[in-house]
Amino acid sequence: MIDFDYVKARDVSDALSQIAQNPAAKFIAGGTNLIDLMKENVAYPARLIDITGLPLTEIKETDAGGVTIGALVPNSDLAYDERIAKRYPLVSSAILAGASAQLRNMASTGGNLLQRTRCLYFYDTDTACNKREPGSGCDAIAGFNRMNAILGWSETCIAVHPSDLCVALAALEAIVHVSGSKGDRAIPFAEFHRLPGDTPQIDTNLARDEIIIAIELPPDGFASNYSYLKIRDRQSYAFALVSVAAGLTMEGGAIKDARVALGGVAHKPWRVPDAERQLVGQQPSRNAFDEAAGLLLQGAEGFAHNTFKIELARRAIVRALEQAAAATPQSQSMKAII
Ligand code: SF4
Repeated sequence: MIDFDYVKARDVSDALSQIAQNPAAKFIAGGTNLIDLMKENVAYPARLIDITGLPLTEIKETDAGGVTIGALVPNSDLAYDERIAKRYPLVSSAILAGASAQLRNMASTGGNLLQRTRCLYFYDTDTACNKREPGSGCDAIAGFNRMNAILGWSETCIAVHPSDLCVALAALEAIVHVSGSKGDRAIPFAEFHRLPGDTPQIDTNLARDEIIIAIELPPDGFASNYSYLKIRDRQSYAFALVSVAAGLTMEGGAIKDARVALGGVAHKPWRVPDAERQLVGQQPSRNAFDEAAGLLLQGAEGFAHNTFKIELARRAIVRALEQAAAATPQSQSMKAII
């Protein structure tokens, strides 16, 4: 483990001034990913700025009828919050599909958005990895790439984003509120994470001197017709091979509005607005869901060990949409796929 300084930020402006002063510093909240990265010599911040004392722990109603979730709300508190469980069950369901109870108790909402890929090579400093060391190559492309991307990848990186929560937030079109030395700004969720392109070392559009303050959820949480379906190698404490967050608004038996986001397939939660538009006005049916799946997976291309994900994703999309339409969401306490 590397040497580092440790300081505690007094408030948001103190946190911002401390990060601006030291380019090698990093914020730490729950530490459920950063500490692992430091132990593996993947991250080596010279200073950790502890932000756990900042007043960002509340879930509040907004004037627009939605809610804002403070960046430091622990994942467990968010999942079990009565308002979230009732109005945004996709959020609760996605959180409970991930990690373990102990990790969810420690992990913060803001930190969940900033967790880094679990690509095996990223954590192994004896291998080539453009994300860890830009320009060194990507050993995953010709290596063991079972967990890697089938969509949106580049020649420099085929990693996937590991979060479950982010897949639900993408489907809900959440907004990320951030603060920085240049002031405050609101980032639509679709623009928060990046595809790898030529700069796979940069995961998000958050500037180095910015901090996440809160996540805003719009009023419509698709609370009646939703499903978060996660397919993984074992039933708990495993990252998604493929996950699907599906939300529908039904009216008179037809689909009035639709959202579908995929996890485990790309460097960011994957949405295709055309696939959602195609569902609007249709009666729920295997054919309609198959067509949407085809649009979501257009251009999908796998590697030696993960091409199976394309068909797996197609089936998972259809299943999640069927569950959402029938108001029989995937249970996260009974994880067997029924
Ligand atoms: Fe690194 Fe990305 Fe290649 Fe994995 S896929 S080894 S994270 S460059």
